[in-house]
Amino acid sequence: MACKNCSKKPVWEFTNQTKLCRSGFVRYFEKKMLKIVRKYGMRNSKLVKKDDLRGKIINNVMGKIVTNKGKKLEIENLNDYSVRILEVLMSKDIKKFDCLLPNYKPLYFFTDAEILLYAKIKNIKGKIVRKMTGKEKKIDDFLIHLENGNKDIRHNVVNSLLRLG
Ligand SMILES: [Zn+2]
Repeated sequence: MACKNCSKKPVWEFTNQTKLCRSGFVRYFEKKMLKIVRKYGMRNSKLVKKDDLRGKIINNVMGKIVTNKGKKLEIENLNDYSVRILEVLMSKDIKKFDCLLPNYKPLYFFTDAEILLYAKIKNIKGKIVRKMTGKEKKIDDFLIHLENGNKDIRHNVVNSLLRLG
């Protein structure tokens, strides 16, 4: 099976088995990110420091469209927020959910796998640098285990939070 837009070799497959080639994946990634930026009003925001791979990607995609004033963007992505949402749920301090909404988080809906593939295709060097507490690590392991049966589990976690409002 080839890319859904052309006949080239696919590099990415969605859970619904749709496939994308290199350029198709880059278009998908950037379009999705810009849509999030628009939807959650991030144009008036500051770019991030470039030490983490994700910071470089944010600056690369958003460099020309943000004012670089106002609130600083956050570099964390779906793998972080899915963990933090479950952590807050367990702590019962649900007021903390407010800081876990997508505002100023351009990579909120992106998995590590998507970020790493985008970086590879665009030849952006670096690593995802992530520090987790012991509890966060446990929750992450739990999610990794759940992902064996449901590849979209992290999306399900953040989307459930957004639906609850
Ligand atoms: Zn294609």
